Amino acid sequence: MSKPETAGERESVLECTDCLDPAEAFALIANDVRLSILEALWAADESPVSFSTLRREVGMRDSAQFNYHLQKLTGHFVTQQAEGYAFKHAGEKVVRSVIAGSFNEHPSIEPFPVAGQCVACGSSLAASYEDERLAIMCVDCGHGHGEYAFPPGGLTDRTRGEIADAFDQRVRHLHCLAADGVCPECSGRMETHIVEDDDCCLGVSLRVDHECRQCAHTLCSAAGLRLLDHSEVVSFHRERGVSLDERPYWTLPWCVSDEFTRLVSRDPLELEVRMPLAGDELRVTMNGDLDVLETHTVDD
Ligand SMILES: [Zn+2]
Ligand SMILES: [Zn+2]
Repeated sequence: MSKPETAGERESVLECTDCLDPAEAFALIANDVRLSILEALWAADESPVSFSTLRREVGMRDSAQFNYHLQKLTGHFVTQQAEGYAFKHAGEKVVRSVIAGSFNEHPSIEPFPVAGQCVACGSSLAASYEDERLAIMCVDCGHGHGEYAFPPGGLTDRTRGEIADAFDQRVRHLHCLAADGVCPECSGRMETHIVEDDDCCLGVSLRVDHECRQCAHTLCSAAGLRLLDHSEVVSFHRERGVSLDERPYWTLPWCVSDEFTRLVSRDPLELEVRMPLAGDELRVTMNGDLDVLETHTVDD
């Protein structure tokens, strides 16, 4: 028989008796051999990887010593199966962090120009990179057009233009995940709120906030960002020669400014986003969960 879920019961899921204290977890992997084992698992063509293959890849002669380090990882970072060893989620996450450069790089790049015009003053836009976050800003008035974490690994082997494209894709996908209720950081439950104040990187006074109930990760955006994949929105633009796939989101004013968004009703909460294009205008009405209720086209 299932019982109604209470906040107390939800929390108890996190009180895992097998879980490691974070300090113990970091101590376990703070060792070159163990990191090499995780990297060898990462580089392997097939999983699981046999003991002998893993030892050969790590390049350790002493089998007993190698086994000692492998056993330290087994359980929390690595799982032992009949045919060999494989990652557990936490082990893969460690290697990904190393590859993403989060532990060993502190790159900064000079601001570089990107496509589009400032929604506030019409000047050109530039991307800047600081503290592992990429931000699109107006070069004249400084108005923000979106800012989000971008791991240093994302800068590797990419031209400035490719970095901007990758950032565009990353923001679209992570906001989509968040709007669907899944935290991009920890996969916890994400809540969506419509907020009326201008205290955010975009400076919009009517915006969408997503907040994770588990890790408190937050994302904010203009309401229009939710509509980039909506079929009516995509075809309205396609019929007028604009492919929404190929336009960086910050070049679409209704994705970065609240000038095109208005509150239609507070109870129940309803928003309308206007998308003027080529003499026509598409108007999309959404509820507080950002589900589309209605769309219609208005001729000028
Ligand atoms: Zn500006
Ligand atoms: Zn989270």
